[in-house]
Amino acid sequence: MKLGIFLKFVLFFVLLAIVLGAGGLYVYKKYRQEHYEAVASAQLATAVVGSAGILDQALTISGKAAGEALALYSMFPFVLCVELTSVEDTSVRWPPLPCDIIKEEKYPLDYSGVLAHGGSLRIYVSHQWVKEQVDSEVEIGFVALSIFLVLFVVGSGFVFRRVVGYPVSFLIRNLHNVSQDLSKQESIKKLTRDEIGELTDALNGLLQRIRGYQVELVRLANTDGLTGIYNRRTFFAKGEELLETPGARYFFMLIDLDYFKSVNDSYGHAVGDVVLELVGQMLQGAVRTGGTRLSDVVGRLGGEEFGVLLVAGDIETAMSIAERVRETLQNMVVETGGDPLTITGSFGLAELVPGESLDALYQRADQACYEAKDHGRNRVEVASA
Ligand code: GH3
Ligand code: MG
Ligand code: MG
Repeated sequence: MKLGIFLKFVLFFVLLAIVLGAGGLYVYKKYRQEHYEAVASAQLATAVVGSAGILDQALTISGKAAGEALALYSMFPFVLCVELTSVEDTSVRWPPLPCDIIKEEKYPLDYSGVLAHGGSLRIYVSHQWVKEQVDSEVEIGFVALSIFLVLFVVGSGFVFRRVVGYPVSFLIRNLHNVSQDLSKQESIKKLTRDEIGELTDALNGLLQRIRGYQVELVRLANTDGLTGIYNRRTFFAKGEELLETPGARYFFMLIDLDYFKSVNDSYGHAVGDVVLELVGQMLQGAVRTGGTRLSDVVGRLGGEEFGVLLVAGDIETAMSIAERVRETLQNMVVETGGDPLTITGSFGLAELVPGESLDALYQRADQACYEAKDHGRNRVEVASA
């Protein structure tokens, strides 16, 4: 069973309240018991001093008179029995029976030598009376303490729920939502300015970083590391998306750089890489990418092979675009530190026929590119439908 933080908190405080309450009551009960025992003892001491003269006089009359005089102690509700012992060892009691036969629980208080010629008094105090006094007080204390503890637990539970419970569950709920779709929500709302607020800030910072990494990962996965334009996979994915718009005419322009192996051989692989990078950037700039109208898709299909999916009104326009790109490529001069380097490419151009797949279109453009190679390179060939 999952015990929420709120329930744990309440349970802990209830237990704490019970332990503290029980401990408090026990200590209080002991303290009040001692208090009532002291009250009884002090009142009796005063009475003993006050009555000593009367008792002495009564003793000179008779034991019976002394017994009657002892009855004055009955005014104390806590006195069960009084025993007077004179020096001549005559014992007088109130009530007249021996104290032992009183079954009630009791304890003796001795006042020795308080009477003339050293006579003593032993007074038995009722335990029951002390207990009743304490119990009636403890009962009130128990009720008061219980009310206080219930209010304390409910009050602190309420405060805890407001201050911790609600903001934490809000944070958890939002974090769950955000983790479903990282791009959905900008940041989690900060409810409080305490530690939970700081936690929210920290999580928002973390989310922002993760979003940054996510954007970067998507970019890395979609683009070609060398040229920065779409890689083969993304080129075909974006191409499929583009072909979904009906009513336009589409052309696949495939470009394969001429004698590129000899560029690497003569100038080194690093220069070859620079050429590929420049060609990629040139292609990206040469056609219509971005903007609100249907845009062309440019990508590196592998090695020194590039693809452009063109949107154009007719084949003549597509051909003129291909021709323009071919000329731009031919006129590009790459600084190598030594001899300046120029390159050319062979172009295959194919128009999408209704119902044709992007892959089939690519195959026909590739075929046209082969023909351009065959016919002497640095030229555009148009595929037959
Ligand atoms: P053709 O005119 O018939 O296309 O000749 P080519 O030399 O361009 O064709 P080939 O297929 O024989 O050679 C392609 C070369 O492209 C070989 C390979 O080393 C080079 N190449 C492929 N990818 C890269 C790359 O990322 N960087 C560099 N520097 N060279 C690459
Ligand atoms: Mg090639
Ligand atoms: Mg080539």
